Amino acid sequence: MPHPSIVWFRDDLRLADNPALRAAIERDEPVIGLYVLDEESEGIRPLGGAARWWLHGSLRSLGERLREKGGQLVLRRGPSARVVTEVVKDAGASAVFWNRRYGGAEREIDAQLKTALREDGIEVASFAASLLFEPWTVQTGSGTPYSVFTPFWRACRALPAPRAPLPEPREVDGGSAKVASDDLDDWQLLPTEPDWAAGLREAWEPGEPAARARLREFLREDLDDYARTRNEPAAGVTSQLSPRLRWGELSPHTVWHDTIEADGAAGRFLSEIGWREFAAHTLFYHPDLATKNLHREFDAFPWPRLKPSHLEAWQQGRTGIPLVDAGMRELWRTGVMHNRVRMVTASFLIKNLLIDWRLGEQWFWDTLVDADGASNPFNWQWVAGSGADAAPYFRIFNPELQAKKFDPRGEYIARWAPEYRADTAEEPPEPIVDLGESRKAALDGYEAVKRAS
Ligand code: FAD
Repeated sequence: MPHPSIVWFRDDLRLADNPALRAAIERDEPVIGLYVLDEESEGIRPLGGAARWWLHGSLRSLGERLREKGGQLVLRRGPSARVVTEVVKDAGASAVFWNRRYGGAEREIDAQLKTALREDGIEVASFAASLLFEPWTVQTGSGTPYSVFTPFWRACRALPAPRAPLPEPREVDGGSAKVASDDLDDWQLLPTEPDWAAGLREAWEPGEPAARARLREFLREDLDDYARTRNEPAAGVTSQLSPRLRWGELSPHTVWHDTIEADGAAGRFLSEIGWREFAAHTLFYHPDLATKNLHREFDAFPWPRLKPSHLEAWQQGRTGIPLVDAGMRELWRTGVMHNRVRMVTASFLIKNLLIDWRLGEQWFWDTLVDADGASNPFNWQWVAGSGADAAPYFRIFNPELQAKKFDPRGEYIARWAPEYRADTAEEPPEPIVDLGESRKAALDGYEAVKRAS
């Protein structure tokens, strides 16, 4: 009687460099891939709309690739702990493997499940695959987590180099046991009424093969210019790997080693991967990063009563501020926004519209294909001033100066918000706030934070 091994896929939707999959294959029993859509467990944040769209495509690709290699991908829906236990029974499995995740609720589920399965005599093992450095291995001399990026990254670089990526398995023996699976389409991850995903389909192809192709293309064509022009949204030189890393279609180890092989001096790009690590480590130590100010004195900030019309104008890219509107429309259309413009739009929401960063974070969570439980709230808190190694609160981006500096020919704005072009007959909207006055109001608000600290 075969005793299959289950590989529980989560944020690692790939076959290459997947230590959990590798461990299962090495056990020499049939391998059953499992993905659980968990919208019920306490503390698990439901995916946003754009993330659901990506997940659909990535799971379809993973399922097809596993089948091509002889394996299978079982899809189930429900609270993870219950579902994984059920699938173990249904398959007669004797081992479960997964790659670690770092959110608070996720870790708790995994730890409890590990104990429960082991009590039932099931072999369980978890692996490091989504981060280059495990959070508990990077600490200050006094054993605390780093709160500033530069020493954090220096400490990471002083550790043994990230391991080399594992090759993709040639075949996966799926065995003959038939384990019931949901039909991916029944999960309704794709929007239908209305179908707002046309821009996402145009911009992206989810799945591991397209991710690998993009990494190769980036290293060949864009890496040379990256350090010089990465801040210019019209330059198009950044890697666009964020959703690939978010969903684990590529491992950071693969990105790391391929980059060093392409250009040993690509430190600027690698340090951006470092920011991803820093955000994940910060979430590990602060599981309520998406809801609570990391620096609690920011709780004293006197947010004025929300003006829903201002929030809507920001969401829809109708604020009358060209760079902000261009960014918000790029986001809506493609599911991503250039990093520089993410900073400017976030700063505008918090420090000109005086809207709580958490509302901006939620909008990004719903609309980004790379929406990440660590990087999204981490960066929002960075802009707000309340987070790790954050921009000082009094640094308020002026979106007009930012546009002059980083989009000097107005190409990015012309592409996403053409009504602001000088040669158009269209009437551009009036700014919904005065940049100078609103900036002053924000600085007054931060006085309260200063008093509380
Ligand atoms: P590249 O410049 O090519 O960088 C390479 C990789 O490094 C990225 O793919 C990403 O994985 C990582 N990276 C780069 N910058 C950062 C950063 N500041 N923080 C964390 N990781 C970084 N990134 C997300 O992946 N998910 C999010 O939900 C997210 N939300 C953000 C919200 C705000 C308000 C801001 C200011 C930034 C946010 N970022 C987020 C970070 C950054 O904007 C994106 O990672 C980047 O724009 C993705 O484009 P790229 O892959 O071409 O980046």
